[in-house]
Amino acid sequence: MLVTSDEERGFVRPRPWPQNMSDTISKDMVASVHYIGTLSSGDEFDNSRDRDPLEFLVGHGNMIPGFEDEMMGAEVGEKRTFTLEAERGYGERDESGVQEMPRDAFPDEMPIEVGLQLVGETEQGPLPFKITAFSDTTVTIDFNHELAGEALTFNVEVMGLRAASEEEIAHGHAHGPGGHHH
Ligand code: ZN
Repeated sequence: MLVTSDEERGFVRPRPWPQNMSDTISKDMVASVHYIGTLSSGDEFDNSRDRDPLEFLVGHGNMIPGFEDEMMGAEVGEKRTFTLEAERGYGERDESGVQEMPRDAFPDEMPIEVGLQLVGETEQGPLPFKITAFSDTTVTIDFNHELAGEALTFNVEVMGLRAASEEEIAHGHAHGPGGHHH
């Protein structure tokens, strides 16, 4: 062929210069996304479609590590699907996070049931845990995140992007709808 397309010749489509960094997901941007999260079994563990999009400040540790990495550079309207192994998701399960407590460590009036989610006050601050078993004298609790040890597949669509305000960057989180209110 005598005629080749620009693409075949390796030409890059011209873009305005300087490039506006605000048009892709990058540090100090506030991204709003819709996402569907599924386990390797195919079960959905989370779906933002029935609520407002999730809004987050990029590059400030607000999301599980792999999520941001996979979404970097995405534009509004772009859809990405990726799977995060536990390491890049909620981490591996830590069996030392499973502990047996005496029943009387819990208030008498508290209804003890399997699956009950509670928050413990620890030196590191509040830490959620779940009751996984109990007997007359003991209660087994698990501090592992529900999604620890799971490979998570995310189907994400970028709904909006804007530059973060100085205040948001100072606070380390997004403000307004879908973000912090204070
Ligand atoms: Zn704030």
